[in-house]
Amino acid sequence: MKFDTALLHGGYGPDKSHGATLPPISQNTAFAADTAEDLEAIFANRKPGFVYSRVANPTVSSFERRIAYLEGGIGAVACNSGMAAVTVALFGLLQQGDELLSASGIFGGTHSLFDSLADLGIHTTFVPDSRVASFEKAFTEHTKAVFVESIGNPKLDVPDIAALAKLCDAHGAVLIVDATMATPMLYRPIALGAHLVIHSTSKFINGSSSAIGGVLIDGGRVKWTAERFPALKPYLKFGPPAFLIRLRESIYRDHGACMPPMHAYLNSIGLETMAVRMERICDTALKLATALQQMPGVKEINYPGLSSHPDHDVAKAQFNGQFGPMFTLRVGTWENAFAVLNALKCCTIASNIGDARTLVLHPASSIYHEYSKEDRLKMGVPDDLIRVSVGLEDSDDLLEDFRTALQTVKEGG
Ligand SMILES: *Cc1c(COP(=O)(O)O)cnc(C)c1O
Repeated sequence: MKFDTALLHGGYGPDKSHGATLPPISQNTAFAADTAEDLEAIFANRKPGFVYSRVANPTVSSFERRIAYLEGGIGAVACNSGMAAVTVALFGLLQQGDELLSASGIFGGTHSLFDSLADLGIHTTFVPDSRVASFEKAFTEHTKAVFVESIGNPKLDVPDIAALAKLCDAHGAVLIVDATMATPMLYRPIALGAHLVIHSTSKFINGSSSAIGGVLIDGGRVKWTAERFPALKPYLKFGPPAFLIRLRESIYRDHGACMPPMHAYLNSIGLETMAVRMERICDTALKLATALQQMPGVKEINYPGLSSHPDHDVAKAQFNGQFGPMFTLRVGTWENAFAVLNALKCCTIASNIGDARTLVLHPASSIYHEYSKEDRLKMGVPDDLIRVSVGLEDSDDLLEDFRTALQTVKEGG
C-alpha cells in the first residue's frame, strides 16, 4: 500500500457495529464487564478488553493502530501532548544515574524537560551539532538513550538517522526520534534503524490546531535486557513489546498521560489529509525560502532544501524529495524582527507550528525567553531570528506579504 492510501486505509476499516466511516468517539470513562470473571481475566491479560479510558480507549486505540502502521512500528501509545509522549518515553527507559544524549537545537519545552530531569539524577549532555562523530564523542558507559529531532525546531539541522542508529546499536542505547517536523510523510525513522519515534500530533498530523496530543511508536527492534534496563525486568517475558507493555501497565497508565477520545478522533481526521497538506506546505516552504534569499532586508535564510544548508545532502538522501514545513530568517536585530512580524498580514503571530495558516514567531522573546542570550545561541536562537511554519495560503500571496513586511527592516542594526 502506498503512503497516501495507507493514510486512509492502513490499520483501519469502517466500524464493525454500524459501519461508521469515521472512528466512533467513545467519550466515556469506564467500560462495563459482563461478569466479575470477565473483568478479572481482562486485568490479568488473559482476555482483551477495555476497562478504563486512562489505560486504553477504543477511539484512542484506533488512532494508535493507524499511526503505528504508518511508521512501521509494532505499537503505539497516544498521549495528551507531545511533551507527555517525550516524558513517558524517558521515564519508561531511564533511571537515576543514567545519561541521555540530546541534540541541542531542539524544541524549547523538551530542552526544559531534560534540564529538570537532572533533579532526578538523570543527566543530559547536549551535543553541540548533529554530526555523528560529535554524538560518538559524547557517549559514556551510562548513556542509555539518544534523543534527536527529525528536523530540529528551530535549528533546522537534520541528523543522519541510519548512521546514528548504528552508533546506538553498537553502544546498546535507544535512539528516540521526535519526527514532529518531518511527519511520516518525509520519512519513517524506524525503517532507518531508529528505535522509538515521537510526534507532537498537535502540529502537522492534526493539521488545524484543534487538539493537543502526542504519540510514541515502538519499532520493536530493541533487544531489551534487565542489565541495561532494570525497570523492564518484569516485562521481558513479553518479548519485543516489553517496553510498550511496561508503558501501558505502569508509566503511561500511572502518569495519566492518556489522549482524550475526542482528540484521537480529531487527529484521525487530520491524518487522512496529511499527505496533500504536507506536499503543498513543503513546496511553498521551498519556494519562499528560495525567493527570500535574494530579498532586501534578509540577512540569512535557513532551510534544509537550500544547497547552502549544512545538512542539505542528508535531507536530500533521507527525505522523500521534500525538505520540511519550516524555515527561519534573520533580519539583523530584535527590533527588525518585531517590525517584520507586526507588518505581516497573511501570517499569524502564534507560538505554534503545523497549522493550516502560516504561523510566525520571534523565538527569542517567546518560547526561549527564559534562557540567557548565550544559551539561546547554542540552541540556534539568535535575537533577530523569525520562525515561519508554512501554511496552506497561496504562495504568491505569502511572498508578497514578506516582500512588503521586509521593507520595515532598518539596515545597520
Ligand atoms: C510542539 C513540539 C513538541 C511538544 O508538543 P506538544 O504537543 O506541544 O506538547 C515536541 N517536539 C516538537 C518538535 C514540537 O514542535
